[in-house]
Amino acid sequence: MNHLKLAGRKNGLRTVIRVGQLRIGQDLTVIAGPCSVESEEQTLTIARAVKRAGAGMLRGGAFKPRTSPYSFQGLGLKGLKILAKARAETGLPVITEVLDTRDVGWVSEYADILQVGARNMQNFSLLKEIGKVGKPVMLKRGMFATYAEWLNCPEYVLDAGNPDVILCERGIRTFEPWTRNTLDLSAVPAMKELSHLPVFVDPTHGTGRVELIRPMAMAAVAAGADGLMVEVHHKPENAMSDGPQALLPEQFNVLMGEINRLQDALDASTDSQGMQVGKGTPVYGSEDGKVREYAW
Ligand code: PEP
Ligand code: MN
Repeated sequence: MNHLKLAGRKNGLRTVIRVGQLRIGQDLTVIAGPCSVESEEQTLTIARAVKRAGAGMLRGGAFKPRTSPYSFQGLGLKGLKILAKARAETGLPVITEVLDTRDVGWVSEYADILQVGARNMQNFSLLKEIGKVGKPVMLKRGMFATYAEWLNCPEYVLDAGNPDVILCERGIRTFEPWTRNTLDLSAVPAMKELSHLPVFVDPTHGTGRVELIRPMAMAAVAAGADGLMVEVHHKPENAMSDGPQALLPEQFNVLMGEINRLQDALDASTDSQGMQVGKGTPVYGSEDGKVREYAW
């Protein structure tokens, strides 16, 4: 993939993106929250719980890409305002999806990171528009995308002038119907081999099954993921989207403990050159040698 002029890995340096206290691409970052922002009470309850458990960032969709036009589409601006409130109260930066080129400017006033969902991975107009804003973007892998197709998408954002892209593996469509998607964990070391960008894993959409989230989250960390994105809901049975795949706050709390123990074990397993098991080259800094900081 030599044609990846900007997203391709060249000199071994990796991009690190600072958002508040977070050093994305350097420290393991866990993003958690509801699938959709449904109400202030719901989002604040979940935000407080994930903060207590040790999450570094809050997620929540205000614009939802739904298969059916009759399903809940998200609260829009009202949802963004609720996220702003949760952010102000908990201190957690927020990530939220932007679906439409026309919304990029004002969604980026509320979001610390803009999310481009799997269904929009190759929405090239959206990618070009996001390339013009001064906020990092998380680019989820399309459910039918090859690695080459996926990696050309950050190339659009970087080429348009935004240097801070995070990749997120969220499962691909295969012949297996028992899981919602097939989580491709090979994508983690593969993306790290091919690109300097941080790589996250979403075991929630990647499996669609609560009982698979913990083992797949652990496996993702062991494979060298820079972070995880996990859906959490305090009343999954009432959730307006993706309730069946949401962890309860207590389950998320247990998961955080396990992830931290695993991370400690990995940190303790560096070799004489400081090489961490599964992490590859431990050289940090962005491709252009600067770590960019985002005040928030
Ligand atoms: C989401 O994270 O809210 C989402 C819709 O995920 P995906 O785009 O991966 O389906
Ligand atoms: Mn969801």
